[in-house]
Amino acid sequence: MKVLKFGGTSVGSAQRMKEVAKLITDGERKIVVLSAMSGTTNTLVEISDYLYKKNPEGANNVINQLEQKYRQHVDELYATEEYKQKTLDFLKDEFDYLRSFTKILFTSFEENVVLDQGEVISTNMVTNYLKECGVKTILLSALDFMRTDKNSEPDFNYIKEKINELLAANPGYQIYITQGFICRNAYGEVDNLQRGGSDYTACLIGAAIKSEEIQIWTDIDGMHNNDPRIVDKTKPVRQLHFEEAAELAYFGAKILHPTCIQPAKFAGVPVRLLNTMDPSAPGTIINNEFQEGKIKAVAAKDNIISIQIHSSRMLLAYGFLRKVFEIFESYKTSIDMVSTSEVGVSVTIDNKSYLKDIVADLMKYGTVTVKENMCIICVVGDLSRDNVGFESQAAKALKDIPVQMISYGGSNHNISFLINEEDKKSALQALSDTLFNN
Ligand code: ASP
Ligand code: MG
Repeated sequence: MKVLKFGGTSVGSAQRMKEVAKLITDGERKIVVLSAMSGTTNTLVEISDYLYKKNPEGANNVINQLEQKYRQHVDELYATEEYKQKTLDFLKDEFDYLRSFTKILFTSFEENVVLDQGEVISTNMVTNYLKECGVKTILLSALDFMRTDKNSEPDFNYIKEKINELLAANPGYQIYITQGFICRNAYGEVDNLQRGGSDYTACLIGAAIKSEEIQIWTDIDGMHNNDPRIVDKTKPVRQLHFEEAAELAYFGAKILHPTCIQPAKFAGVPVRLLNTMDPSAPGTIINNEFQEGKIKAVAAKDNIISIQIHSSRMLLAYGFLRKVFEIFESYKTSIDMVSTSEVGVSVTIDNKSYLKDIVADLMKYGTVTVKENMCIICVVGDLSRDNVGFESQAAKALKDIPVQMISYGGSNHNISFLINEEDKKSALQALSDTLFNN
């Protein structure tokens, strides 16, 4: 059974929901994971902000506006009075529930419940629509099988057991609908898989049931070889290795949640990225195949901070790097790029919450130079040692850009360049022109 996930824009209006329904009712049984309608989770965050600030009036205004929007969708989506009324009753309960939070103490526990309602609403609406169309559909609540452990990581064994149990207990349906993003945590409380987490839900389910394929449906034709918002003439990449896709997602390709493909990779289930606006387009397939010698794509990650530690004490000494890295560890700050010389080490981070403390601690070991507003450009493809010339082609493309740091050799499929953010557009364009558009 395939697992299909539709993002917020793909279910962003009554019309789009109807198109999703058409797409999924091709006679094949499937599991369908839905996001909240686009914009809804942001609105729920806004509502939570008002509730944290103990402003019930502000919260109620936003809740009432959102309710109005949803009531209009109902009118457009359903053909029969029966389903219109059924969905309006459901929405009334949902929005009354949201309003009830204005009367109680609001903590992060309540916030998680509020944030989850976007997916609860969209899945109920689509389920009702499919039922109205006569499709044998069941809504499985993600809260009954999606769970994280004490480290807030998905509890894969639990998920696997529960989802397979639920499917076995509910045979005979054509479509199984469930919510992306939402889950319970190790304490059984309502929680979520972090913003954009619906992709993760789909990949976890796909891995748990050993699906033949996981499909992530968005509003763009697969993963592009460069950022289409910044660079001209980008093209979809037809195939990526799991590792290549993970690097691209981590380094800025917005189309996929960075950690989400790990479970699919481990289970060996291919992930296909498809476009709801153009369903017949081939999209991008992510699997375990390597295309030898190919440079696949470029991505950029902003808001990077570089930290250089210079010390003559590093010369011929051992243990220096460990001390440096331990400082970052003690502030739970992960390092992206590393580059060393005999008298210094440069690293990059993207989380500046503890920057001041980190710098203060590093000063015990050498002269520290911090640069903010940097950008990592990551070039992905087959970089195996016998594929001569990959790095020189990438470096040549950047010949007019002041490159601050290069990281090469950490894996067989990625070379990263650190540049100033202001050079990002020209760097990305130069890489596209040299590597892909020749
Ligand atoms: N609705 C959630 C969000 O907007 C999860 C998702 O769409 O993937 O972040
Ligand atoms: Mg998304």
